[in-house]
Amino acid sequence: MGNKDLYRHDVIVVGGGLAGLRAAVEACDRGADTAVLSKVYPLRSHSVAAQGGINAALGNSPAAKDDNWEKHAFDTIKGSVYLADQDAVEILCREAPGAVFELEHWGTVFSRDDHGRLAQRPFGGADVPRTCYAADRTGHNLLNTLFEQAASRGIRFYNEFFVTSLVVDEETCRGCIALDILSGNLHGFSSKSLVLATGGYGMIYDHSTNSLINTADGMALAYSAGAKLKDMEFVQFHPTTLSGSNILISEGARGEGAYLVNSEGDRFMAKYAPQAEELAPRDIVARSIMKEIQAGLGFDGGCVHLDLRHLGAEKIRERLPGIRQIAMDFADLDPVEQPIPVQPGQHYSMGGIDVSPDGETGIRGLFAVGECACISVHGANRLGGNSLLDTLVFGRRVGDKAFNESHDEAAPVVEAALNREIKRLDELFSSRGESFASLMREMKKTMFESFGIFRDENNMQEGLGSLNELGKKFEGAAVNSARKIFCQSLVRTLELGFMLDIAGAVALSALWRKESRGSHYRTDWPDRDDDRYLKHTLISKTDGQKPAIEYSPVKLGLFPVKEDGY
Ligand SMILES: Cc1cc2nc3c(=O)[nH]c(=O)nc-3n(C[C@H](O)[C@H](O)[C@H](O)COP(=O)(O)OP(=O)(O)OC[C@H]3O[C@@H](n4cnc5c(N)ncnc54)[C@H](O)[C@@H]3O)c2cc1C
Repeated sequence: MGNKDLYRHDVIVVGGGLAGLRAAVEACDRGADTAVLSKVYPLRSHSVAAQGGINAALGNSPAAKDDNWEKHAFDTIKGSVYLADQDAVEILCREAPGAVFELEHWGTVFSRDDHGRLAQRPFGGADVPRTCYAADRTGHNLLNTLFEQAASRGIRFYNEFFVTSLVVDEETCRGCIALDILSGNLHGFSSKSLVLATGGYGMIYDHSTNSLINTADGMALAYSAGAKLKDMEFVQFHPTTLSGSNILISEGARGEGAYLVNSEGDRFMAKYAPQAEELAPRDIVARSIMKEIQAGLGFDGGCVHLDLRHLGAEKIRERLPGIRQIAMDFADLDPVEQPIPVQPGQHYSMGGIDVSPDGETGIRGLFAVGECACISVHGANRLGGNSLLDTLVFGRRVGDKAFNESHDEAAPVVEAALNREIKRLDELFSSRGESFASLMREMKKTMFESFGIFRDENNMQEGLGSLNELGKKFEGAAVNSARKIFCQSLVRTLELGFMLDIAGAVALSALWRKESRGSHYRTDWPDRDDDRYLKHTLISKTDGQKPAIEYSPVKLGLFPVKEDGY
């Protein structure tokens, strides 16, 4: 590959989404020479697509006057089916109001109520209206605000730089190697500490709400470097995505009062969650929709209807303009006049790189935060509005920790790793073989069919077999391109390698957990089993290659574990 420039910074953040930018701003404010590497222009990170809002117990809504962090924590822990670590949830919920006010003061234009306070809407699994929002474009507003903050501090951005590997030596992260996509050159980055904030893995699944760039890179980089992945079997399926294209239709729609209706015109959620109905947690609503469809009560194309019409044109235009636009552009219907056909789609990864509440991975100098990390505050099922919060609260903490826990640089080690990586990618380039596209299609289909909303042993074993076959075929995969400049097939091939690794981790973790909890629902083990499985799954590559599974205890302490319904 081309030249061999070596860059150095105190703190390197991989990822220009909300988690990465918040960490970078904090490290920079502490005095670190900070850089952000992002494989896309930062404002194109998936955070920009977040719609419905961000949770904080502000108690602004008349229905939530005595809301407080403890109630927010309880809802989060109950929604997680008691798998979230309660010390981390306490941090998340205590610091939530401060995180929201900080972004507001930095410039985010949140929607307001009639008294001029930040408006709060109801969201799934929350006892009271607690979700702050900027219409239904919350992520767009937050990300633009944070990007301005980062840019105004002079943080160095390497945009369209794709990190291909981490440099780990003596159990310490020394930096990373990145491909400058535009030129096709590889570069070494030497740092005192490195933060992974690379987002989720939605693209391992068919029918995902995620961006094409959500390809598990950071999780796979950490996994290969020896870090553990936690609770990978917990994959969130969002109940309401547009039928066919699976573009997200925010929970904000149900928060504003939209109904879910089957082909007989019944609001069926009352059957499955008599109190919360449409605002039960996502795992419950997604399964209920699938049960209706399987019982023959769906509409053509395997969907149910999300009916907003009774909300009235004014409310829909003011509170849900993005949803209305999506329905008009992609389904050719106006939700003011017609219901929206919806079906569940893959949405979020509760699992990720196993980290402490300060983002420590167990490898010195290597930190992780945001959707690629598992702290864990979401357990077996994340509540809507808690992920944006997770990126901001823990982004700040991890940026601080990365500044304080920096290690000696080792530029020669990075340089040697760069030379090895140049050789590896050159070989990938010169080989000829099966391209990424067909293998990727097969992987997505396998994951959706075998590790979807309903799982069982036979189906998962079959799926694991297919993934192993795909892994073997991938060893012979080639880029099949003569051009190194802006070589998308090189990037896609590297991403596919990351995704296959992570798909395998999801599959094995799911097979080992013989119970049903939150988003992990096994028809052959339909009950929750606290005696055997109230614990985190950890998967790692023992000898650098073969995955091994172990378990660790859940941190309790705030609320006792119980069986509760919605
Ligand atoms: C459609 C949609 C709507 C959502 N709505 C909400 C909501 O309303 N409320 C809520 O709480 N949550 C919501 N979520 C979830 C939430 O938006 C995400 O979990 C969160 O924004 C993730 O932020 P992040 O910073 O961890 O990652 P991302 O925003 O995904 O950013 C990842 C970054 O990593 C970079 N990157 C990845 N790999 C590499 C590599 N190899 N080299 C260099 N850079 C790399 C990318 O360029 C990108 O900048 C939504 C998610 C989706 C998909």
